[in-house]
Amino acid sequence: MTQQIPVMRVCVSCRKTYDRKNLLKITKDHKQGIMFQKGMGRSAYICNSRKCYLDSKIKKKLQKALKTFLEPEFIDIFKKEIASFNDYPNKGI
Ligand SMILES: [Zn+2]
Repeated sequence: MTQQIPVMRVCVSCRKTYDRKNLLKITKDHKQGIMFQKGMGRSAYICNSRKCYLDSKIKKKLQKALKTFLEPEFIDIFKKEIASFNDYPNKGI
């Protein structure tokens, strides 16, 4: 019998460690650019705390973590993604 060990990742904003499945993953994909929850490349994670995703410095923090420039539209897409992520019924505790 194998036990599922949760994959722990650090939130880019509050620097707290959470189970991977409770975090929104933002990836700078080599080919397709910024992607949410998928893609291959440098990734950053953010928890679903309002304090974190509404942080005025979140774009800067993500730019630093992903080592890339984020378009001004990014933040709108990001907010939509995090809203649907928070609505996801099976996010666990
Ligand atoms: Zn956080």
